[in-house]
Amino acid sequence: MRIIENITDMRAWSDAERRAGRRIALVPTMGFLHQGHLSLVRDGRRRADRLVVSIFVNPTQFSPGEDFAAYPRDFERDRELLEEAGVDVLFHPAVAAMYPQGAETHVEVERLSLPLCGAMRAGHFCGVATVVTKLFNIVLPHVAVFGEKDYQQLQVIRRLARDLCMGVEIVGHPIVREADGLAMSSRNVYLNDVERRAAVCLSRALCKAKRLFTRGERSAPALLRAVESELAAEPLARVEYAKLCDAETLEEIDRIEQPALLALAVRIGKARLIDNHLLARR
Ligand code: AMP
Repeated sequence: MRIIENITDMRAWSDAERRAGRRIALVPTMGFLHQGHLSLVRDGRRRADRLVVSIFVNPTQFSPGEDFAAYPRDFERDRELLEEAGVDVLFHPAVAAMYPQGAETHVEVERLSLPLCGAMRAGHFCGVATVVTKLFNIVLPHVAVFGEKDYQQLQVIRRLARDLCMGVEIVGHPIVREADGLAMSSRNVYLNDVERRAAVCLSRALCKAKRLFTRGERSAPALLRAVESELAAEPLARVEYAKLCDAETLEEIDRIEQPALLALAVRIGKARLIDNHLLARR
C-alpha cells in the first residue's frame, strides 16, 4: 500500500492508472476506522481495479464549538487495517495542502443541505460538499462509496455529482451495526460504559417504528410518537431531532406514500449520535 500525502503525487498516480485503462474506487473517511469503514472498503475493492482510501479530518465540516480538535485519530492503526484490507493507496493530505491560504471557493448543495443535520450544524454540508469535490478532483475516481449511516450526506453527494457532471458513480452502503444494534461510529469512543448501554435506544426506537410500519402504520405523527416515547424512556438521551422525510428530497412528510427516511440525532454524554432506517415497501 502506498501512502500519498501530496496532492500532485496523488493525481499523477490516478492519471497513470486511468491511462492504463484501470478503474479507480475511492472511499473517503475521517479515519479512526471501524468495521463500518472496512465494509465500505471491501465494497470499493469489488467495484474497481484500484482502491484509494482517504483519511482527512476535514476542518470545514465542523462548526465552531464542535469536536474538530478532539476528533479521535490513530493513523498507525488505520494504516495497518487498510494494508490488511488490500488498499492500493492511502491518501492522507495535510489541512494546509487541502486549504491553501487564500482559498475562497466552496460548493453548496442548497436545498438538501437545509433540513435534519443541516439545520443543527451550520455550514456542515457545505464543508462536506467542498471537500468531496476536492477529493474527486484529486483522486479522479470512477466510483466512490459512502455509508447510508450518513444518509443526508449521501444524498447531498449524489446531487452534487449529478449537478456538477462529475462522472463519478456514487454508491450507498448499508449501515453496519454493533451486535446490540448501535450504528458503528468513530464518535462512539466518546461514550462511557453507562452511556454506551444507553446508546442502543436509537436503534431500538427505529426498530419499533419499523415494526409499526411493517404492520401497516403510515402516519408520520403516529410513527414519530412511538420513536419519541422509546427515546424518552432513556434518561441519558437528549433528542436533537426525530423526523420522517421523503427519502429522495428529505422534505418532511405527514404520511408515508413513497420510500421514507426515519432519521434521528440524539446526544448522549459528549457524543452526538445519528442513525436512520429507510421505510419502504419491499
Ligand atoms: P467518517 O469517517 O465518519 O467520515 O465516515 C466515512 C464513511 O464511512 C462515510 O461514508 C460514512 O457514512 C461511512 N460510515 C461510517 N460509519 C458507518 C457505519 N456504521 N455503517 C456504514 N457506513 C458507515
